[in-house]
Amino acid sequence: MRRFKEGCSQLAFRWIKRPARVPGTKDALEGGGEDHRGLSYLKQHTIGQSVWCSGVGLHSGLNVALVLKPAPANSGIRFIRTDIPSSPSIPAYYNNVVNTFQATTIGSEGAVVSTVEHLMAALYGCGVDNVMVEISGPEAPIFDGSAAPYVKLIQKALVLEQDEPRNYLAIRKPLTVQRGDSFITASPSDHFQVCYEIEYAHPRVGKQSYSWALKNGSFGREIAKARTFGFLKDFQKLQEMGLIRGGSLSNAVVFDDSEVLNAGGFRFSNECVRHKILDFIGDLALTGLPMLGEFKVCKAGHTLHRCFLNELMNGKDYAIPTSVPTPATFFASGASALA
Ligand SMILES: [Zn+2]
Repeated sequence: MRRFKEGCSQLAFRWIKRPARVPGTKDALEGGGEDHRGLSYLKQHTIGQSVWCSGVGLHSGLNVALVLKPAPANSGIRFIRTDIPSSPSIPAYYNNVVNTFQATTIGSEGAVVSTVEHLMAALYGCGVDNVMVEISGPEAPIFDGSAAPYVKLIQKALVLEQDEPRNYLAIRKPLTVQRGDSFITASPSDHFQVCYEIEYAHPRVGKQSYSWALKNGSFGREIAKARTFGFLKDFQKLQEMGLIRGGSLSNAVVFDDSEVLNAGGFRFSNECVRHKILDFIGDLALTGLPMLGEFKVCKAGHTLHRCFLNELMNGKDYAIPTSVPTPATFFASGASALA
């Protein structure tokens, strides 16, 4: 019982009474293929208990502690800066994005939290709608540069079904946002799918494309472990700008002019494009709702992701909140709202 003594006894008690109803967690982490559809995708989720971690921020180099806490239905994801006396609260919402250079930074009440995208992607991929994130500094820990450590943390907390129905944000009509040869398009769909393409003039990257759909463990299997990446030639310039002070071979795939410098090489042969999908999911999660739509993304980054979100949410009805489609629709498509 010791692990339930962290200010969430009521939620934990509900979990104890319903041990079979922790959908999403196992799938998200292990890709075990267990099918919890019909139990889960109709309802909102939080976590069953508080969990914490600590680590270094990629850009700030600061060591911070981060606690995930259960949150009520319809409260969404909210960051609290516990190192500031007024404990400012920053809702993880697209209109709180204040910077997108090299990472996504959100801010409110005079406080910011940067590099939120990997945690946001993990929460999205695990089907967590409502959680409070207490953080003791200005940047989320980078860990190994992927979302896998955050997925493990969510697994430890257990995903808990709540009583309130879950709404989705459904793409209603096609939208394209383009800057030069970079673009993002969205099309209506009864599931969530991302096709991403990148091209870097580097022999170990080159042109990569990957198509991924959210269903039955696919986030944990295909996306969560893909690490961020960077090029040695940019390292000094970014450090002079006050960035990547915490960067190392333990938290990014790093390339010199011709090779991967990490001793273990890649986790996937196309790890870079998979990580771009991870970043896109994390930024898209700032809409505050799980998506129903098909997205094609080419050579984008956090700044174009932000432009796209602003256009998507600008009130022109490109995307509308909707209750979940009928189970028959979901089952016919073979897709699930769960990771
Ligand atoms: Zn990233």
